[in-house]
Amino acid sequence: MAVPKKKTSKSRRDMRRSHHALAKASYQECPNCGERKRPHHVCGSCGYYDGREVVVAKGAVA
Ligand SMILES: [Zn+2]
Repeated sequence: MAVPKKKTSKSRRDMRRSHHALAKASYQECPNCGERKRPHHVCGSCGYYDGREVVVAKGAVA
C-alpha cells in the first residue's frame, strides 16, 4: 500500500480544503408566476418550463 512519506501539516491540509466550500444556489424569477426558481429547472410553484406547463403543480388540479 502506498503510504505518505510525511504527515500533512494543518496548514497544508486546510489550504487543500479551502476549495471545498459549496457554491450558493442561484435563483431567478419565474417568468410565468414570478416565484423564485432555479435556472434550467421546472418552476416548483406553477410547474412551467420554457413557456408551457410541463408538470401539474401541487394543489393545482387541471
Ligand atoms: Zn412559476
